[in-house]
This record gives sequence, C-alpha cells and structure tokens, in this order.
Amino acid sequence: MSNPLASKALNLQHLLAISDLNRPNIEFLLDLGEKYLDLSVQKGPAIKILAGKTLINLFFENSTRTEKSFELAGRRLGADVISMAIARSSVAKGETLLDTAATLNAMNPDLLVIRHGASGAPALLAQKVSCPVINAGDGTHEHPTQALLDALTLRNRLGQLDGLRVAICGDILHSRVARSNVQLLNILGCEVRLVGPTTLLPADADRWGVEVFHDMQSGLKGCDVIMMLRLQLERMAGSFVPSKREYFHFYGLDRTKLDYAKPDALVMHPGPMNRGVEISSDIADDPDVSLITRQVETGVAMRMAILHGLADANPGGVS
Ligand code: ASP
Repeated sequence: MSNPLASKALNLQHLLAISDLNRPNIEFLLDLGEKYLDLSVQKGPAIKILAGKTLINLFFENSTRTEKSFELAGRRLGADVISMAIARSSVAKGETLLDTAATLNAMNPDLLVIRHGASGAPALLAQKVSCPVINAGDGTHEHPTQALLDALTLRNRLGQLDGLRVAICGDILHSRVARSNVQLLNILGCEVRLVGPTTLLPADADRWGVEVFHDMQSGLKGCDVIMMLRLQLERMAGSFVPSKREYFHFYGLDRTKLDYAKPDALVMHPGPMNRGVEISSDIADDPDVSLITRQVETGVAMRMAILHGLADANPGGVS
C-alpha cells in the first residue's frame, strides 16, 4: 500500500500517548497531516489508501468532534468504518473491556480507535488485539491526537512552533488535552505555561517542564498562543470553584485578559466550549484571533495522517 503522500515509514505500532512518539515520528505525522490539510482545502479526493481495511471506533465516552472526525478520516481514506454504539452493545450487558477486545479482535479490524473514561484502557486493549490502537482520550490521562492536531493547526498558521510561548489555561487537573499538549509542545520547542487556580492544577505541575501561574495577567504576559480548557464538571467530585460566574471573572478569557498577551496572540480551545464560563463568545467567534473552527478542520486531516501512517507502518498488524 504505497502512497506518494507517505515518503518515509513511521516507526510506531500504537498511538497511546505522546511518549510513544519521538521527534522524527512527530514530524512525519505533522508533514503527512499538512498534505491532507492541503488536499481538503483544495477539495481534492484523497487516495483510498485504506480501501479494504476496517476501522472500528469504540467510544465509551461521549464525543462529537473526535468520533466524527475519525469516522470521516477513515471514510475519506476508503476504509470500512464501524462506530460501536456502546449503549447498544454487549458492554451495556456487563461485558468487560477485555472480552469486548477479544470479540472485536476476532473480527480482524485493521485499526481500532478507543475513547474510555479509565486512564490506561487503550493501553490494556493494545495488549489484547493484533492491530494498531489509537487513544482518542482516556480518563484524565492523555489525548494524543488532539495534541497533534493542535500542533498542526499552529504550524500551519505560524510556520513553526519553536520558541512560541503557549499558555494552557483553566482546568488542567482534569484535562487529558493539557497532559498531551504539554509534552508535545515541549518536544517541539515551545515555552509552555499553565495558568489556573490552585484547586485546578495538579500537585506535581512544577515537574511537567512548565511555568505555573495562578493569575491570568502574569500568566498571559508575552504569550503567542492561549489554549483555553473546559471546566470539566463531569470529572469533579466535589466543588473546585466557588461559582461559574466567579470562575469567569478570574479565569474566563475576555478582551481584557486577551490584552495581557501579545497583540497578535491566537486563541485555541479543544471543545466542547462552555461559553461565558472559560471563554467569552466575543473571543471564541472572532476569526482574527480564534483558531477554534480551524482546529476542527485540521483534526480530520491530522487523523487521516495518523490512520494512514499507522496502517502503512503495520501492514501485517501488530504482534
Ligand atoms: N474534547 C476534549 C476531551 O475529550 C476536551 C474536553 O472534553 O473538554 O478531552
């Protein structure tokens, strides 16, 4: 399955975490993502590199962007795509993840995408199946494809990431997006900051290779990019902020806080957004500063690159 878009092989069996990737693999995936992005901008047909292959999407948690973009990415590459509706599957009857894995494996999929509420579930699945597994978000652990699409969005807009000062703001504690992004942006040479209230910052954040700030004014100073995170109420047992109104007052991104960053700073958000909680509509919808829609568009191209790269790298499956 050679393809003129892929110029050299990717050395990777699964994409479970950013730590699975070295710099050459990251550059390879971003370069391939860039090519698919150009193709989609030109509305050119993608080569059906996955024709005859089966992609199974296994989403144990809700998703709009990620699930749909993997579906679309698989279809654009010509794969047969099956998205398992977990509520209607045997999981709802009590089947364990490992039994589900064995059942799916018996159907000989070529690629498996999984999102699960438990950190580590994709890694467990990867040990039990004989095809590449892609982590589409596991608990508060990682969301590596989101970090890759964010990096591609920035690279495509700004040319390069090296030397950029990026502030990741808000509910870092519960965010798998933050964990993946911190690692990837560090590898790519960015200066990464975390900004949030003490209650929403992990206790070990100072060991993540970042600078930690508790107020937006000092945290956003001189920043090129501001990544806002959702207040992930579904992961909170107890109260982490006094009220949403007060949270917006101190940490929600509005014009006043945006002005603390560089004059041409760009704003990102992985979605779904809580308008008026972590970001004002005025900023989210401003095409001059917001990359949020572009992130979604880039997500499809990046996931096409990931599916293509992993399928190419493991033509006979994984052992
Ligand atoms: N969509 C992202 C995730 O799945 C971010 C979020 O849910 O806030 O982690």
